[in-house]
Amino acid sequence: MVQYDYDLFVIGGGSGGIRSARWASQLGAKVALCEKDRLGGTCVIRGCIPKKLMVYGGSFKKNFELAKGYGWKLNSMNLDWTQFNSVRNKEIARLESIYNNILTNNKVDCISGHGSLKDDHTVEVEGKSYTARYILIAVGGWPSKLAIEGAEHSITSNEIFNLEKQPQSLLVLGAGYIGLEFASIFNSLGTDVSLMFRKDLILSGFDKDVRKHLQNELSLQGIAMLSQRNPIAIEKQDQNFVVRDDKGEAWRGDLILMAIGRKANIKGLNLSGVGIKTQSDQILVNDKFQTTSPSVYAVGDCIQQAYQLTPVALNQGMCVSEYLFNKTSYRKFSYHSVPSAVFTQPETSAVGLSEEQAVKRGYEVKVYESAFRALKLTLTQSKEKTYMKWVVCKKTDELLGCHIVGENAGEILQGFAVAVKNRIKKSDLDQTIGIHPTSAEELVTMRTARD
Ligand code: NDP
Repeated sequence: MVQYDYDLFVIGGGSGGIRSARWASQLGAKVALCEKDRLGGTCVIRGCIPKKLMVYGGSFKKNFELAKGYGWKLNSMNLDWTQFNSVRNKEIARLESIYNNILTNNKVDCISGHGSLKDDHTVEVEGKSYTARYILIAVGGWPSKLAIEGAEHSITSNEIFNLEKQPQSLLVLGAGYIGLEFASIFNSLGTDVSLMFRKDLILSGFDKDVRKHLQNELSLQGIAMLSQRNPIAIEKQDQNFVVRDDKGEAWRGDLILMAIGRKANIKGLNLSGVGIKTQSDQILVNDKFQTTSPSVYAVGDCIQQAYQLTPVALNQGMCVSEYLFNKTSYRKFSYHSVPSAVFTQPETSAVGLSEEQAVKRGYEVKVYESAFRALKLTLTQSKEKTYMKWVVCKKTDELLGCHIVGENAGEILQGFAVAVKNRIKKSDLDQTIGIHPTSAEELVTMRTARD
């Protein structure tokens, strides 16, 4: 039998890679992992975690405003930008060291450097070769930029965590997860924010009613919506930038954030050299995450799939390790009802099918929806409305999709995602007692379907 240095060699120390390495090691495999940057990947270092800390940072300002409605007299409120960044960065460094410890405690050999495939059982890192029975590619993604004149004047979500001062004005290009989250964060921190996007509505892929509701709420909060425009050039003028659009108009900002999607980070891996097929620069895998080279697997944002989400990569990483080293308990990864949240203010969260997707798949649907002012806001000047929607199959009464725009939408939806995933019925919801007074109780008390 061929002897290898390792049972599993993981390229990439982000969410999927670290989870898979740890899981495989706990199942008795000898594991190594290489990472060219900081351990933790996009989620921990320049994505979900620092972003969510910024969301919390921004949310205080809104709550200070709401507090006035309850009789609080507040003196001046000022954000110390340097301290805000420093405490956030310190927390990220702490998490990075925890990931390091997790791997060391699980006896995973950590190798620093860029890994590339020498052959289908060998990874080369900084000139040294390591052989492995299996290789897992978990290299994640990287923000893309539009190929327009002056694109170098814009930053991406990678650089936005390194700003020395808070911008007075921000122009965001793209209205998906990243564009909307940062537009909302900076708006909540007091920056003057504009959002440029090519369609009439933000957040493609989500339920149309949700998109309309969120767009309205964000504009009520002061984000300028520059819809149905494409940026064609960016120019530097004095200390700020001007974006020219295809309607012949120009928009000025201290800072331009380009948030138009992310590409798989597969450069320099030598995929074609070992026969690994890609499509649109994403790695092709089968339902066990095996690439077209049988000993090489791939998970997370670098593979061809509909979801670029941390929990999806984590689960895929675990599935690969279970499949390779514990076949008896292997469970197939399921894409049925993957929930997600967009951390705008108000938050947006969804699981299952939008009304449009359900209709397109041939379902006849019943729609239950509710828009209301949350109790917390009744003593305040805020006009913000929470929106909730159930998409239900008319024939079987099965819950097909749940959609929320409102405070804590992600926290509320996580539990209801279990209901949708397990295909329970609307009648089951109707028999569930609400928790009063909460916003979430609305999801079990809607009784009349929309005409
Ligand atoms: P998204 O795919 O979410 O959004 C991209 C945006 O850019 C859309 O508004 C899209 O427009 C626009 N766009 C794309 N191509 C062009 C183009 N050629 N010209 C003009 N506009 C264009 O990508 P993001 O970068 O926002 O995020 C990447 C992924 O990261 C997300 O899909 C998500 O899975 C993940 N993510 C998840 C988060 C979470 O779970 N909270 C947070 C952040 C990221 P259009 O709508 O017309 O296609």
